[in-house]
Amino acid sequence: MIKAVRGTRDLLPPDTALWNFVEATAREVFRAYNFHEIRTPIFEDTQLFSRAVGEETDVVSKEMYTWEDRGRAESDHGQSLTLRPENTAGVVRAYIEHKLWDRGLNKLYYMGPQFRRERPQKGRYRQFFQIGAEVIGPSTAGSESPARDAEVLEMLATLLDRLGITGWTLELNSVGCANDRATYNEALRKALEPVASQMCVDCQRRAVTNPLRVFDCKVPEDQPIIESLPRISQYLDEPCREHFSHVQEILKSVGVEFVLNDRLVRGLDYYTRTAFEFTHGALGAQNAILGGGRYDGLSEALGGPPAPGIGFAIGEDRLVMSLQTSAEGAKAKPDVYVAPLGAGMNREAARLARELRRGSAIVELGDETFRLKKSFEVATKLGARYILIVGENEVKADTFALKNLASGEQVQVPRNELAARIVEK
Ligand code: AMP
Repeated sequence: MIKAVRGTRDLLPPDTALWNFVEATAREVFRAYNFHEIRTPIFEDTQLFSRAVGEETDVVSKEMYTWEDRGRAESDHGQSLTLRPENTAGVVRAYIEHKLWDRGLNKLYYMGPQFRRERPQKGRYRQFFQIGAEVIGPSTAGSESPARDAEVLEMLATLLDRLGITGWTLELNSVGCANDRATYNEALRKALEPVASQMCVDCQRRAVTNPLRVFDCKVPEDQPIIESLPRISQYLDEPCREHFSHVQEILKSVGVEFVLNDRLVRGLDYYTRTAFEFTHGALGAQNAILGGGRYDGLSEALGGPPAPGIGFAIGEDRLVMSLQTSAEGAKAKPDVYVAPLGAGMNREAARLARELRRGSAIVELGDETFRLKKSFEVATKLGARYILIVGENEVKADTFALKNLASGEQVQVPRNELAARIVEK
């Protein structure tokens, strides 16, 4: 038997109802903040990711699905392509390619699959789904402003509240700008020199190539050393410090709670200033529901004009896991099972089902060859709230027996009142 590839999975009903609920709610919330949807290709030129995300990151160095194209044409033969491991790079590429600043499009959101060759475990997949948004634009559009950071964070808090997710924590840090990072990297390198040999192999390599990445280390034995390292918060220059405190002031004034975490440097290289993560206690080891931050230099790194930006990516798989609203799943069940009884009744039942669906009821339809007992069994298995019997007598009287399957209560309802009766909760 052929099975779904390791790290990928089928999303099945009734869970798909939860996914749809999450996506519809996100669209509504994004709309209220004037974000518009963008859809970028699922694969891109490999260089896009190595330049945008950074060669030294785990994502680019170990986790990408990359292949050489086999096109006939000279132009695309041998081109290195990669399944997108994240979507910010694609959005910024599109922003540059289509000069979106000319069209005043600087608030964009996306949803879709991403691919990373990670070790699969609970909450970690090789094909996973992200819902994300980016604010990007020239400084004249105010995209550098701490007000944008606070707006994005407040929007996320609103979205999680709207989804009914409680118990999340917003962890906040500033990773400074390029200058701060350079001095800080030097300080880290110095601090790591005498101790790196006692750390894991990954950290030994990071200590030389990109010391900031040691904060990604999850090896328990390395943690005391990491705890003792200097922190970025001590190296922020005055403008970065001010930017960060402005973000915090707005968050306090709108009532969004956060905790400061100066170990939070995040996995991707392009971040500047504000970096954040929302975590959720119930998720276990993979407890980050979403992450994001500012990336003021990214557009230029990809050959575009200066365009400061801030964005985030929600791990939709994990968001769905943390949703306790099983009521949303229950909504996927039919309101009514329409049971035709006896020859010639499929026609009548089809007409009735059509009327009920137009009246917004979720309808499942039986078959005239089923005996009444079988119709009841099927309706119960489907979890329908009501069963509606369509027999010759009912059709003649234009009044139907509507039975509540949970309570057993049965009432006679005239045809024109059926839909209203069924959809009322
Ligand atoms: P990142 O793009 O690494 O900042 O990740 C943003 C969010 O995507 C994380 O907070 C996770 O919720 C989610 N995520 C990242 N990698 C995976 C994965 N392999 N499987 C499931 N969710 C993931």
